[in-house]
Amino acid sequence: MEHIECVVIGAGVVGLAAARALAQAGREVVVLEAQAAVGTATSARNSEVIHAGLYYAPGSWKARLCVQGRERLYAYCAAHGVAHRQLGKLVVATDTTQHAPLRALVARAAACGVHDLRWLDAADAQALEPALRCSAAVLSPSTGIVDSHALMLALRGDAEAAGAMVALKSPLLCARAVAGGFELEVGGDEPMRLHARSLVNAAGLYATHVAHSIDGLAPAAIPAPHWARGHYFACTGRSPFARLIYPMPDDAGLGIHLTLDLGGQMRFGPDVQWLARAEPDAEDYIVDAALADGFAASIRRFWPALPDGALQPAYAGIRPKIAGPGEPAADFRIDGPTQHGLPGLVNLFGIESPGLTACLAIAEQVQALLGG
Ligand SMILES: Cc1cc2nc3c(=O)[nH]c(=O)nc-3n(C[C@H](O)[C@H](O)[C@H](O)COP(=O)(O)OP(=O)(O)OC[C@H]3O[C@@H](n4cnc5c(N)ncnc54)[C@H](O)[C@@H]3O)c2cc1C
Repeated sequence: MEHIECVVIGAGVVGLAAARALAQAGREVVVLEAQAAVGTATSARNSEVIHAGLYYAPGSWKARLCVQGRERLYAYCAAHGVAHRQLGKLVVATDTTQHAPLRALVARAAACGVHDLRWLDAADAQALEPALRCSAAVLSPSTGIVDSHALMLALRGDAEAAGAMVALKSPLLCARAVAGGFELEVGGDEPMRLHARSLVNAAGLYATHVAHSIDGLAPAAIPAPHWARGHYFACTGRSPFARLIYPMPDDAGLGIHLTLDLGGQMRFGPDVQWLARAEPDAEDYIVDAALADGFAASIRRFWPALPDGALQPAYAGIRPKIAGPGEPAADFRIDGPTQHGLPGLVNLFGIESPGLTACLAIAEQVQALLGG
């Protein structure tokens, strides 16, 4: 059996960022990825927004790692030539009943360390974005967009340059806690058994499934998974907006917002559709064209001039939630031995938004849990 110092399960943006951090700290690292390419799951199916960190409970992982991760990510993208743009965004109130919640959002953002928000009355907002209909808005100048694929290629390149190996088509089947680490059964074209001193579970939607496959890990240390799909529609034509436009957030998501890709094309999403099960047979990314009418109604609240028939089904992503419908939003879980009692194991649960923004900061936490 081959002995590896550190195995990372999953080559999404978080697994790759963790592998990079560990390899650059001098660890021997192998990344096991079930699919034939890196970053084909949630990391390829999101809004590609670099979040400023407005929305989260002050002091939570999400709040802290979003703010830290955003700073790290802008610096990383600039240093590594990863395409990104700090466009800024407007969070809009479409009637005066939303002013108090919008002011509460500004206060919450300040408590999270985001102090650059600017309150705009309707005229000021429309001076910036003439196509916008709103009664007030908040400008977040530090929000941006990033090419998530280019980011993952850069992270993988850094990890490999520091000696890490990425094994594709190599699903972890199960693991067992043993003295000095973990024994791993790996499937795929070339099944193998490995011994790893440390194990990082960055399997995204399947992080809880992977955790249940670890013999020796108490089931009580594993949250119940809940999956919530979000759909996106592309919008033909030139964008009348220069910034991202967000409505007020709701309980499960940030609301159907306008994002721009790096080519300036508009896309709208994601909505929130809870899936009945969090199992492989429910992993379905279909976008029902019939959702377009509901999207158009939401969008017209802030962009009344959305042309009829302009929305085209684009893609969907699934949020790896660990709180179900109607439950309070859950924080990221970055579980080390203090939480589960197994030295050398880090479980990453519930890494939904802002996981892309926070990936470099999450990686630092993983590295710290594994001894720096
Ligand atoms: C609709 C939506 C919109 C979002 N928008 C944003 C946004 O704008 N900004 C932002 O910051 N964040 C956003 N996010 C969150 C962000 O996309 C995720 O937090 C991030 O991509 C998670 O990365 P990950 O590496 O943890 O997971 P993933 O990208 O899912 O990677 C997990 C990997 O593990 C692999 N895997 C699974 N099981 C196994 C196994 N047994 N063996 C080996 N490999 C395995 C999978 O194949 C996959 O490649 C959004 C998420 C969604 C769903």
